[in-house]
Amino acid sequence: MLSPKLHQAINKQINAELWSAYLYLSMSMDAQAKGFNGVANWFYVQWLEEQDHARILMNYLNSRDAKVTLMPIEKVDTEWGTILEMFEQTLKHEKVVTQMINNLATIAAEDRDFASSNMLVWFIDEQVEEEESARDMIFAAESVADNKYGLYQLDKQLASRVYSQASPLATKE
Ligand code: MG
Repeated sequence: MLSPKLHQAINKQINAELWSAYLYLSMSMDAQAKGFNGVANWFYVQWLEEQDHARILMNYLNSRDAKVTLMPIEKVDTEWGTILEMFEQTLKHEKVVTQMINNLATIAAEDRDFASSNMLVWFIDEQVEEEESARDMIFAAESVADNKYGLYQLDKQLASRVYSQASPLATKE
């Protein structure tokens, strides 16, 4: 059985993943409104991935006979000055999420809840990737800076990002 502390922390993480999803959807809509359809696509894929993260945790709680309690999702920003600012906020936010995942892993370890520790390994690895991809995007956006043609090319490139399910854990059999 999950400890009440871990149960509550995972419920909180589900909310955080859904907040992330909402943040990236908002960025996608802002990019689309400004004509950056490729950037909009990149963030739309993020929105789908974050929903998968929430689903993995919801499925996990269910499989441990622990109830999922959905909480209100806080408001997100709706407008960004530049594409670079979007990616900078993405990195900043993912660093916070990494801390939250590390905190969850610490609680699971303290509880000697090995199943939870094992499930969280996927998230620990995922956060390394999330931070790396945000840094890559900052590098790309900084490289083109205010060059209109560069931005156009970057936008075209990001249009090709395709969503693939984050993990089979996101599917409830
Ligand atoms: Mg996430």
